[in-house]
Formats: sequence, structure tokens, C-alpha cells
Amino acid sequence: MSVNSKTKYIFITGGVVSSLGKGIASASIGLLLKSRGLKVTILKFDPYINVDPGTLSPYQHGEVYVTDDGAETDLDLGHYERFISENMTRRNNSTTGQIYYSVIKKERRGDYLGKTVQVIPHITDEIKRRITEAGDANIEYDIVIVEVGGTIGDIESLPFLEAIRQMCLDVGNQNAVNIHLTLVPYINAAGEFKTKPTQHSVMRLREIGIQADILLCRCETHLDEESKDKIGLFCNVAKNAVIEALDVSTIYEVPLIFEEGGVGDLIVERLNLQTPKPDLVEWKRFVEKVKNPRETVKIAVCGKYVGLKDSYKSIIESFVHAGVANNARVEVEWIDSEEIESNGISGRFKEVSGILIPGGFGDRGIEGKIATAKYARENKVPYFGICLGMQCAIIEFARNVCGWENANGVEFSKNTSHPVIDLMEEQKNISNLGGTMRLGAYNCKIKPATQTYEMYGQSEIVERHRHRYEVNNLYVDEFEKKGLTASGINPETNLVEIVELRDHPWYLGVQFHPELKSRVLTGHPLFRAFVKAAITYKNSHQQA
Ligand code: GLN
Repeated sequence: MSVNSKTKYIFITGGVVSSLGKGIASASIGLLLKSRGLKVTILKFDPYINVDPGTLSPYQHGEVYVTDDGAETDLDLGHYERFISENMTRRNNSTTGQIYYSVIKKERRGDYLGKTVQVIPHITDEIKRRITEAGDANIEYDIVIVEVGGTIGDIESLPFLEAIRQMCLDVGNQNAVNIHLTLVPYINAAGEFKTKPTQHSVMRLREIGIQADILLCRCETHLDEESKDKIGLFCNVAKNAVIEALDVSTIYEVPLIFEEGGVGDLIVERLNLQTPKPDLVEWKRFVEKVKNPRETVKIAVCGKYVGLKDSYKSIIESFVHAGVANNARVEVEWIDSEEIESNGISGRFKEVSGILIPGGFGDRGIEGKIATAKYARENKVPYFGICLGMQCAIIEFARNVCGWENANGVEFSKNTSHPVIDLMEEQKNISNLGGTMRLGAYNCKIKPATQTYEMYGQSEIVERHRHRYEVNNLYVDEFEKKGLTASGINPETNLVEIVELRDHPWYLGVQFHPELKSRVLTGHPLFRAFVKAAITYKNSHQQA
């Protein structure tokens, strides 16, 4: 197998229980190495058989993160992009489904020349190929970080671990580091930390042929020296490589505690890399601001999946970034749109200074969202409609301002008299659900002298999409006459990408997903402006 001689690999696995924050750990290590001047990318392997998470319910999987090149990927890629501030591609996320799909296609073509196709070596070779080809094909990386989804002991992740074992041999030990994230629980009744789950997890790894080099030990309080000694001894890991990964109040602090624990130094020593110390000054400043905001502002997010916050991961993080940019903390009030449908809107938004309706699919809760958009328009509450949230604002405007009572989106009513949100022409003959939406980065031209232009400060932008339906251009002139301006247009297709209400302090709808492009230190211009408008609203209403 050909591997880039310069590139070094970091493999990150998780043990004991899920949800220890492997994605954040991978992203944090990526940031630490990038801050030392290295070229880094991060690859996520998902052991499930779905080709991608695009067809999975948000309840099963959380948010689907879309890359510029239109891949529907795991939400960890959002953490990677936000932490290391590099664009991911479809080559940064592979699933078991994709891997088998490629191997089976090759088999059908006859590429295996009569051989029996097996997990070892054919599946493992395909996994290794994806490791060596991770990221942007035009960039030669110093470091490729590989995160393996799932927990050690899962049947599904075995081929990935076997591929990693082989890969370590292929590139040599000096070019690969194995990092294992584990849990060290403190048992109150015994009054001590318990290291056995970690010992067992590392033992499982060793049975597969992988020796952990660094252990990141999640713990609720400081790990005592005795426990560290014990973990080191039983897991065959140097004591200074047993790192305490203490619970922190914000995920953005994780890179800082890792650096303090010596993770960066350990990795570069182990890989024989000469680098300066990382420059984390701005990151530290950001974390300080997250922890010490000058004020708090409450914003409602009104959606269908509010029971599972992972469905709106990027929106939540965008609020953190935009909050810092405004020296504020955004407190999100989750509102179930179905609850608005059954209980009415009265008093529900009294406490909030802004309303965001996020993306979504299907007609459940849709009338609650439309009523919410109406409330925000009439009461001059800052409103941010994203994708479905924009479509709701359009439907509401068509019904209540243009007077077309039955206006609707054809996703919700096929026989509406005014299909103000319609299926795109190229979507009409599509029958497969997977990977067939309008996906990824598209250009948008901003109209001069609009609020939108002021926020972006430029007339050409690129944003990411994931939807099938669009504003129907038949109605755009009438919207304009009545006060709703199409302030952003796709220059190639003439589709409406952004609308703003003229007679309102801040009322914006976007067909794309700006939350996918919010980065830690800068935030997204629309989120920054929305939070600012919410603060202004709050202050004016406090005085009143
Ligand atoms: N269901 C809508 C569409 O497909 C909106 C999608 C979304 O909000 N991501 O157009």
C-alpha cells in the first residue's frame, strides 16, 4: 500500500461507554497540532451500515452536517470544522455502508480477479485507502487524525480497528499514535476512583493488537496519583501519558486542559516532530468570554426535535460564537412547535428577545411554526428563519399580508391554491431519498442597500444547503410590493436564497444553513447580527 511518507497518523478510539466526547477530543487535538503550525485533517469512521446519516431520523443520529462539497455527514465534522477552522470534504467521513458499497462495486466489476472477497484484506484495505486519502486531495497533511465511532467491544467497529493495527505496522510506530478515551468513575460508596473499566477496555484493544500510547481519562474530579500509577501499570502506558480529562463547563476549554495535561507535547515527541509551542492566546480569550459574559439574552428555538438537542448542534454552537462576539451568553428556550399548535401562542414568547425557527421536514408542527413567524412579524420580535424557518415565514406572509388564505408549501399541502414554496423542477422525478436533495455550497448574490448586505459587508457569499423545496418565483414580485424583499438570489438559477422584511427591526429568512459555517473565533455574520438585534430588543423592552 502506498502511504505518504511525510504524513503521520493519530488514531482515536473510545472505551467503556459512549458519549465521552471523542469528537470533541479529536477536534481539540486537531486544534492543538494546528496551533503548532502543522497541517491537520480529521477523518471520522462511522461503523453503521447506512451509507450516510442523511436518511436517519434526527432522534437517532442528531444533526446531519453538510460539507461544501455536498456530503451529508456526522455531526462530529461540525466540531472538526469549528475547532480547526478548515473545510471538511466527503473524504472526511466514511461509514461501513460506504466501505462495503465500494468493495461490492469492485467485486461486480471483476476487479478482484476471481479471489474470495473478505473482511481481511479487502474491507481493511478499503478502510486504509480512505485513511490515506482523507481530506482535500490537493493538500499534503502533516497529520491525519482518525476517529473511530462506537466503543471498544462493539462488533461493528472491529474491521476499523484491524485496519488501524495494520496501518501502524505499515507506517511504523514512529509515525502513528494511538489515543484511547476512557472513563474513570469515582464511586462514592467506596470513596475512590475505579480503574477496572479502563483496564478492561485497554485489554480489549491489546487483544486486537493495538497498544494505546496515550489515555485520556474522563473523570468528574481530579484523578489522584495512585489511580494514575495503577492505570499506567495495568494498561502498559507511561504514567505521564495517563491524562486527566476533567469535566469542563464549555467544550471550548477541552483543548486548553489537554495542552495543560501535556497531550500536545506527548504527541509531537512520540512522532518526532519539531514544533514551536502552540499559540492559543485568542482561543483562551474566547473561552474567558464564554465563561464570563457581560449579559444574557434569551432566544427561543421553535422546532420539532427539541427533545434532542443534538439535532440542532450547529445552531447551539453558532449562538455560543455569536454570543461571545456580542459579549453575551445566549440562553436558548426550546419550544415544541406542536405544543404551540395545541396550546396556542399566548404568552409563550413573552420572556424571549428573539425567535429562531430551524430546518426541518414534514408537516408535523408546521402550523405552530407559521403562527410563530406571524407572532414575530406582528410584534416586531427579531426573527431568524433557517431553511424550513424561512419557508414558514413566506407562507405566513402570503396568507396574512398578501391575503392568500390557502397559501402553503407543496410539502405540506399538494393542492394549495398558492404554492408559494414549491418543489424544484429537478427534484420532481427523484425517487431515492438518500443524497438527492439540493446539497452543499451554492453562490448567493446580495442586493445592495439591504439589511442583509450590511450584515455580510459584501455582495457575493457562499452558503451550504440541504433541502428539496424553494420559494416559488411566481410570487416574488407581489412579496416585494407588500414589504418582503428577496435580498439574496442565486446568480446561476435565480432562486431566492434570503428574504428580509422591510418594516421590521430584524426579520430574516435564509434558504441555506448559515449555522454550518460559523467558526469559533469569528462567528457567522448573520448569527452575530441576530444576537445583537435580540440584545437591542431586550434592552428596549426592559426600559419600557
Ligand atoms: N423540508 C424543507 C425542504 O426540503 C426544508 C428543509 C430544511 O429545513 N433543511 O425544502
